[in-house]
Amino acid sequence: MTNATSEQNQAIIQEVLEIFPEKARKDRKKHTMVTEPGMESVGSCIVSNRKSQPGVMTVRGCAYAGSKGVVFGPIKDIAHISHGPVGCGQYSRAGRRNYYTGTSGVDTFGTINFTSDFQERDIVFGGDKKLAKLIEELELLFPLTKGISIQSECPVGLIGDDIEAVAKASRQTLGKPVIPVRCEGFRGVSQSLGHHIANDAIRDWVLDNREGKPFESTPYDVAIIGDYNIGGDAWASRILIEEMGLRVVAQWAGDGTLVEMENTPKVKMNLVHCYRSMNYISRHMEEKHGIPWMEYNFFGPTKIAESLRKIAAHFDDTIRQNAEAVIARHQARADAIIQKYRPRLEGRNVLLYLGGLRPRHVIGAYEDLGMEIIGTGYEFGHSDDYDRTLPELKEGTLLFDDASSYELEAFVKALKPDLVGSGIKEKYIFQKMGVPFRQMHSWDYSGPYHGYDGFAVFARDMDMTLNNPSWSELTAPWLKSA
Ligand code: SF4
Repeated sequence: MTNATSEQNQAIIQEVLEIFPEKARKDRKKHTMVTEPGMESVGSCIVSNRKSQPGVMTVRGCAYAGSKGVVFGPIKDIAHISHGPVGCGQYSRAGRRNYYTGTSGVDTFGTINFTSDFQERDIVFGGDKKLAKLIEELELLFPLTKGISIQSECPVGLIGDDIEAVAKASRQTLGKPVIPVRCEGFRGVSQSLGHHIANDAIRDWVLDNREGKPFESTPYDVAIIGDYNIGGDAWASRILIEEMGLRVVAQWAGDGTLVEMENTPKVKMNLVHCYRSMNYISRHMEEKHGIPWMEYNFFGPTKIAESLRKIAAHFDDTIRQNAEAVIARHQARADAIIQKYRPRLEGRNVLLYLGGLRPRHVIGAYEDLGMEIIGTGYEFGHSDDYDRTLPELKEGTLLFDDASSYELEAFVKALKPDLVGSGIKEKYIFQKMGVPFRQMHSWDYSGPYHGYDGFAVFARDMDMTLNNPSWSELTAPWLKSA
């Protein structure tokens, strides 16, 4: 420990975990750390991607949520069947605000809950026949779908239904892709395995569909991978990439289509925004098709400019010059936003607790506004996510993995951040406590936050939240006298 903040934060961890029985305390201790100077890798300092402690209120989701809710759900011209009981599909329906253009029920199907609505008899006698019938009915009612994905819920895996056989037979009859995804919620320890399973399903059932079919290539063909177009993020990003002179062949998965995915093996480079959910398929395309991939970060003008230059470095002088022109064109606007909001936000502290990418990706945008991250953590990050986070953090920052509701509340009480950014399950606790809070999974019904257009919205939202006079007027309901 080298400075006062580090020592203080170590003491906070100690105090917060004190409440747990010894075994649980030991385990949870492994999921927390304080950053030290010169650290390049978290090594064994923080353990991640492990099963949550039984009995604590983890805020993680399940593998089905990772596949249906994140990777597959936003592909707009496929019907996604939630295969199993009705609830999983209903509660994951359209909640992430993956925007898309099109006419619902005609050429886009993202907001419709297609479900096999399992009943007891399906559990006892199996659901394969019901699934085949459902696919048949779906085709009759929505003949313009470009394909169908089958998103398995827990019971389907437990009773051992053969959804692959149904998918193969239906593909034959319909003459369009039917993609079985074995993303039953109980698999793995969080939604993270669902991302991986979904990536594998795309690899096995989608990517080779257009092999050998004609495609007019250009040297500037790229795919945007891992942008879910929340509040229009992918649109705000695509504009910049196209302004640079690159041709976006595919957008995964926000506002994306099946044919775009099928054409992705023909691009020259994959540009990956959400590394956690899409690194698997990017690595696969690198190995099998020789397509290089790179990560980029379009949160806040500093990271955007850095990323545009990094992307351009893989192409020729024209693209490099274009990238400089794009940065120059938008810089004045970015400066004006900073000039307006920085004086109102400068020096304020932020604590973040999010999925698998944003705890590191949004840091630069906060720093552009003069704000500092004092604690951050991942619901379902892996050690490579924590390694990638270290360079973004100051010494003495508190890091926490798969924090329980209790831990998060205790960390906030101890660190007293000016702003908390986390998810919908955390939102109302902190808001009732009078702590300024932004729901940073789906931008709290706002957005986009990506690109220069997104930065304007991000800065406004942070100011609007933080400097809202209502927080000081709030008394938590549990603190009010009867
Ligand atoms: S854990 Fe299983 S039952 Fe629960 S939402 Fe996920 S798939 Fe559905």
